[in-house]
Amino acid sequence: MTNPPGGPRRAPVFRDVPDAQWNDWHWQLSHRLNKADELERVFPLTESERAALAAGDLFRVDVTPYFASLIRPEDPADPIRRQVIPTAAELVPFTAMMEDSLAEDRHSPVPGLVHRYPDRVLMLVTTQCASYCRYCTRSRIVGDPSAQFSSSEYEEQLDYIRATPQIRDVLLSGGDPLTLAPKILENLIASLREISHVEIIRIGSRVPVFMPMRVDDDLCAMLGRYHPIWFNIHVNHPNEITPELAAAADKLTRAGVPLGNQSVLLAGVNDCVHIQRRLVQDLVRIRVRPYYLYQCDLVEGAGHFRTPVSKGIEIIEGLRGHTSGFAVPTYVVDAPGGGGKIPLGPNYLLSMSDHRVALRNFEGYISSYEEPTAYSAHDPAECAECKRKRAEPGQSGISGLLDGDELAIEPIDWAKMHARGGVEHRLNRDSNKWNPRGIGTSSASGGSHPADPTGPRKEK
Ligand SMILES: *Cc1c(COP(=O)(O)O)cnc(C)c1O
Repeated sequence: MTNPPGGPRRAPVFRDVPDAQWNDWHWQLSHRLNKADELERVFPLTESERAALAAGDLFRVDVTPYFASLIRPEDPADPIRRQVIPTAAELVPFTAMMEDSLAEDRHSPVPGLVHRYPDRVLMLVTTQCASYCRYCTRSRIVGDPSAQFSSSEYEEQLDYIRATPQIRDVLLSGGDPLTLAPKILENLIASLREISHVEIIRIGSRVPVFMPMRVDDDLCAMLGRYHPIWFNIHVNHPNEITPELAAAADKLTRAGVPLGNQSVLLAGVNDCVHIQRRLVQDLVRIRVRPYYLYQCDLVEGAGHFRTPVSKGIEIIEGLRGHTSGFAVPTYVVDAPGGGGKIPLGPNYLLSMSDHRVALRNFEGYISSYEEPTAYSAHDPAECAECKRKRAEPGQSGISGLLDGDELAIEPIDWAKMHARGGVEHRLNRDSNKWNPRGIGTSSASGGSHPADPTGPRKEK
């Protein structure tokens, strides 16, 4: 069975596999390559790759025959090869490297459930993937088949979501949720759908990229029964966009599932404006909208993939305005220590006065925008949505300042350091006109903000 010209790519070693097996995702999973001699039948290994594969406690290696076939055998720097075949560089520690750099474990009220943001949770439902990315941010838990989640752990995760009405968005991830047995995956999705406050369910999966045959009619019909379902795939390089991936994306979008892409900025793989431009343009051609471009996390084994943050800024500079707006992802640094995703990009705001802003565009053209001098401000007292707003304890942050809920955000021990035993000034005792907002006073005597019709503020 040879490959038709322009048709699906298969490494010569898989030439004689019957189509029915090649296109069966169970066959792909059970024939994954992980040992040096197996990989060597597809392409010659380098010294560095052989050394890594022989190392003792290496993060798990597995590559589906389909994905291995996309590697150009003669090129040790092939961008697909770099993502899934370990090299000796993986064994090199670097400063600032951490096991759980996003502090996910600290944010997990029950095992596998990461509640980092006010209204949504990340639900890790398996430790298994179809193939293993060498830069995996969760290599501390992923890959170990003995660390699989149990049904009682799923129940604990679901119980937490049931008992937490502010959760309106549940993101299934892992590991890769699409490696679960179809019945288990459906049961999880069905249980989430029964929770009335869960508005949307999201799936984060690289299976369409590693093993597009998993996206079959049954899967699409199943997902279609539990809408709204959103889906993010993970493509890093245009070489991953094959006719098979295009067909899988087409099936999913026809089933009503909007597709996004999350990619990771990786040295030697996609740290190039031109590769990124082709990537995002090829993605929108298959109706996948670029969602996030991640700065590589400070995770063990991934040091050689890291780029300076400036590379990410440069890439966004080369995309915004230069190509379709919906092809431009948001570049984010997932802040170490559990700070969450922080968007970064070029600066377009050059300066501002009380009624004008100076802006530059993607070409360097600079213009000014005249702001209104008579703006009748939005009145929260007249707005039904403002009155309905839900408290987000400890989560209001900067938007809490703008909203008027909070007066200041203080670093740890700030108040203690500034408590110098002062007494209230005599002028302040008689009236509040000297310090109308009560800043720096310990009593709650501060008046209300003139623009805040909702009355006195809470003291922090
Ligand atoms: C990324 C992430 C989410 C989802 O974030 P969005 O910006 O809404 O895509 C939710 N929880 C955790 C812990 C995450 O890391």
